[in-house]
Amino acid sequence: MANNISDYKTDIHNDWCAGCGDFGILNSIQMALCELNIANHNAVIFSGIGCSGKTPHFINTYGIHTIHGRVLPFAQGAKISNPQITVIALGGDGDGLGIGAGHFVAAGRRNVDMTYIIFNNGVYGLTKGQPSPTLSQGIKTKNSINKNINCSINPIELAIVTGFTFVARGHSFDIQHLKNLIISAISHKGLSFIDVIQPCPTYNDDMHTVNSANTFSSQSYYKLNQSTYDPIISDRDNKLTQYEKLNKILIKSHEFGHKIPIGVFYQNNIISSYQDRLNDITISHKNISPASTKISDSNHNPSTDISNLIDEIILK
Ligand code: SF4
Repeated sequence: MANNISDYKTDIHNDWCAGCGDFGILNSIQMALCELNIANHNAVIFSGIGCSGKTPHFINTYGIHTIHGRVLPFAQGAKISNPQITVIALGGDGDGLGIGAGHFVAAGRRNVDMTYIIFNNGVYGLTKGQPSPTLSQGIKTKNSINKNINCSINPIELAIVTGFTFVARGHSFDIQHLKNLIISAISHKGLSFIDVIQPCPTYNDDMHTVNSANTFSSQSYYKLNQSTYDPIISDRDNKLTQYEKLNKILIKSHEFGHKIPIGVFYQNNIISSYQDRLNDITISHKNISPASTKISDSNHNPSTDISNLIDEIILK
């Protein structure tokens, strides 16, 4: 059982650019795993493709570096097969909200009990800074000839309306705050999403960097205060209250200007998790996951007869 932050680090060389927000997110994940005292062998970190895709290499847990835009199917499959493990999926905004947008929407419908973290810098950093789906309209990156004329995706709103049940935003420069968000996300029963604003100083020095209007400071970011903003929808709320709260939450998700809110936007404690729904329809197999199913007896003989299946394959 690891209980020291160094137990969650690896010796693999890290070649992210100096000043990249990825470092803060990496540290926050390691700190959250340590604070929750999650054993290294009980956590799996999945990543997509991009600079952020290297993150599992630097965390001393199981790690799977998957393919572009497909991190969620891999991660959901692992959690459904073995509900006992802690699963974190992560990737860039281009990976998750460009090519991976369909999987993002489908994942919301399932509400598998895991956490998805998007490293959001508005560009495809690994491929030299092309505009990504979250780049604000009117911003020109180092790589592009003109300002971005497309509208940007709002990850917070998209996550809420597609069915994620814990939705938050953090900033890579506020590691303690982000660590606490990750702890809350992992502890939530259902699909959690954290949109992490981070700088890519190499290819996008107009957003979220020390040179930009959105420099990380009290002038440009503020923390949602739960005494004045209530993100939680529970069965104590009647239907009307739930709709009223949801309306306020969606309005808040559109606040992304000179003052950007960070913190928990939405937590729905009513919607059942995928595992609960699965248990409801497979009563005879309740709590028996594929990973815990015995496939051999004490003499290592297969406990399932698959000879018919093999015959079928051979005959084909
Ligand atoms: Fe970070 Fe951008 Fe460098 Fe990638 S290209 S490591 S996102 S600063």
